[in-house]
Amino acid sequence: MSKIQGTLAQWRDRLRRKELSPAELVNLTADAIEADRTTNAYISFDREAALHAAAGADISSPLAGIPIAVKDNINVLGQPTRCASRLLSPYVAPYDATSIRLLKEAGGIPLGRTNMDEFAMGASGENSAYGITRNPEAPDRIPGGSAAVASATAIAALGSDTGGSIRQPAGHCGIVGLKPTYGRVSRYGLVAFASSLDQIGPMTQTVEDAAILLQAISGHDRKDSTSANCPVPDFEAALGRDVKGLKVGIPSEYFTSGNHPGISEAVQNTVKQLENLGAELVEVNLPHADAVVAAYYIIACAEASSNLSRFDGVRYGKRAEDAAGLVELFSRTREEGFGPEVKRRIILGTYVLSSGYYDAYYSRAQKVRSLVAKDFAEAFSRADIIVGPTSPAPAPKIGDSALDHLQTYLADIYTIPANLAGLPAMSIPCGTVRESGMELPVGFQMMAPHFREDLLLKTGFALGK
Ligand code: GLN
Repeated sequence: MSKIQGTLAQWRDRLRRKELSPAELVNLTADAIEADRTTNAYISFDREAALHAAAGADISSPLAGIPIAVKDNINVLGQPTRCASRLLSPYVAPYDATSIRLLKEAGGIPLGRTNMDEFAMGASGENSAYGITRNPEAPDRIPGGSAAVASATAIAALGSDTGGSIRQPAGHCGIVGLKPTYGRVSRYGLVAFASSLDQIGPMTQTVEDAAILLQAISGHDRKDSTSANCPVPDFEAALGRDVKGLKVGIPSEYFTSGNHPGISEAVQNTVKQLENLGAELVEVNLPHADAVVAAYYIIACAEASSNLSRFDGVRYGKRAEDAAGLVELFSRTREEGFGPEVKRRIILGTYVLSSGYYDAYYSRAQKVRSLVAKDFAEAFSRADIIVGPTSPAPAPKIGDSALDHLQTYLADIYTIPANLAGLPAMSIPCGTVRESGMELPVGFQMMAPHFREDLLLKTGFALGK
């Protein structure tokens, strides 16, 4: 199978040294996508459009004409954006998302729409109308999201993270995934799942690549009212700084016997490595850690039920044929277009927002969210970063999630808090665990105060990732 070997930084150097042209790199990447028969990591790709962009690429630009895979829920002008849903199957984006506009301005070339859970709802990649995505490290297991970077059919990718969908797949596939601070990267042009939680971010092979890609897509955007108007630091400059004296917060709630023993060991080894590099370990507490999953699924479903009401058969994508009236048009379009997980979430979201239950569920979940944010504020008064496992268990087998939805939701326990509190968080690879005769990657998660992605990048780089 043809593969794209080399990091974004390495390809950038090769392009700048004119060892190959952006068009040749586009063709290599497109060949690798075509040749991959294992992962089903892509829903579609457009070689011609990418070649057209490559013809005008400026190799002195920050991304030098490098093809970047894009999750299927981020609009790229003229390309289908399906969110892995039948409902959007005929939809073609009429504009670029801000992150894509910035990516193009930085010399990047969008190539390939990566497969995902329908409307980003799920943690396994099994809820896609375009077929299951497989883990390139262990094809009978889930990747937990975009497998393209790990399967070497993409040099780097943009993902979206509402409750962990950048970091979990990164952990399960042994790559780097960074969810930026809420507001750091514009959400304009990202199909909304839960607007107060969604963030676009990089999925890359190295921490250096994450810094390069984050730099390209960050910044204030007047088209997104939640975009933060604050300066974007030089993320690459953070790399190479040492971590001596860095206070690393260890929350007891994240180091429990509920974690897979191999994961605990790999994460502890990384903590020791940080200590050896001169970091100082401090104990912190996140007392509401056990309430985050419940609060998240109430808030995320509530927002999703509202956001997805726009898919009515009139404005976007699919329209049911021969409907007898408007109500039948709405209901049949949605009945035929949405898959079971999306329907489950819309029903749950509508329920928790309905007048009799609003106070019992939605407003209580919002209170929990405030308490979680307070816990982090307190913890960050003692620590510079907070660390732990990305997931409590390695990548589950394909089919497991369908057996127990609750168990699948619980696997988000360590990634959800950063979304609820709007914090930046990054997963880096930290070894493997052996299961059923296979080495499965483990993710090490770091969280930082708002807008301190530099601390995550510096620490990940110091760990040699
Ligand atoms: N697993 C979470 C959910 O299903 C997160 C998904 C995401 O981050 N897009 O809601």
